[in-house]
Amino acid sequence: MNSKHWLVLLPIVAILATLGLGVAAIPLAQPAVVVNIAGAFLPSPTATATETATPTLTPTPTDTPTPTPTLTPPFTPTPTRPLTPMITRDPTQRVVRVPILMYHYLSVPPPDADKYRLDLSVTPANFDAQMEYLAIEGYHPVRISDLAEFLANGKPLPPKPIAITFDDGYLDNYQNAFPILKKYNFTATFFLATQFIDERRTGYMNWNQVEELAIERMEIGAHTLNHIELKDKSRAAQASEIVGSKLMIEARIGTPVRSFNYPSGKYDSLSIDILRSAGYLAAVTTDPQGTRQSVDAPYELQRIRVRGAFSLNDFAYWLKYFSTNGNK
Ligand SMILES: [Zn+2]
Repeated sequence: MNSKHWLVLLPIVAILATLGLGVAAIPLAQPAVVVNIAGAFLPSPTATATETATPTLTPTPTDTPTPTPTLTPPFTPTPTRPLTPMITRDPTQRVVRVPILMYHYLSVPPPDADKYRLDLSVTPANFDAQMEYLAIEGYHPVRISDLAEFLANGKPLPPKPIAITFDDGYLDNYQNAFPILKKYNFTATFFLATQFIDERRTGYMNWNQVEELAIERMEIGAHTLNHIELKDKSRAAQASEIVGSKLMIEARIGTPVRSFNYPSGKYDSLSIDILRSAGYLAAVTTDPQGTRQSVDAPYELQRIRVRGAFSLNDFAYWLKYFSTNGNK
């Protein structure tokens, strides 16, 4: 078992334990032993093990794979920092108007495209014009997790915040949207159905491209493993999709996944319970459209659908419309 296995297994064990799936007892016992060994050298039971750790806890960097499981993981132990950092929530009841734009395909649709594909496809030229409009109008794009932190504890947002989101992980997002976003120095959030990436499906990004987005400060969010509708599914089925996709992305990009997107916009109260337990901060919906974001509903953030047929005037009209009207 090498360091990569530890990195992947520890969060799986921790999150499954959080969800009460009851399979974590044996693996969790191993890190617990490390703490007890360190504690044995302390004069009192005060839990300051990280400050007084003996040299046995010091990681010994080595490229040689350890043939047997060891009590000292070969990566720098940071026991005081959870894998998905918890954020504080203060009692302020924040409600804010922040538009979240929803995109799918970012390309000229193929000649045989049906009406659905046409509706879901925004051309690069139109997208560029829309981003230019946002820049001229003084909007500042933020990630979905930035909005979630503002709602929870008031972490400041820039003036005129807006979020740009992409559903499903299409290759044209990387090829066409990404360069335009960089041109305007805009960030965005990309939601992946991870099984499509794993299977190297035609028309979807690969993991190297996803990693490049993450390195360039784009947020990577989860959109389940298999793009299944969650509503009315069992707890086990929903947990597998919600937690599994989070872990798959984290194992690749190395940072916590905090935002989720319901396939087809379908979810129930169980979905929200599992999202909260799994450490997600927020989730975006598709219906009803709107811009009213509330700390009471961080797993039901409202979005605006950018349709393929939108002219720039339509785009500006609906952005303005939902920024003041729409669902309360
Ligand atoms: Zn989708």
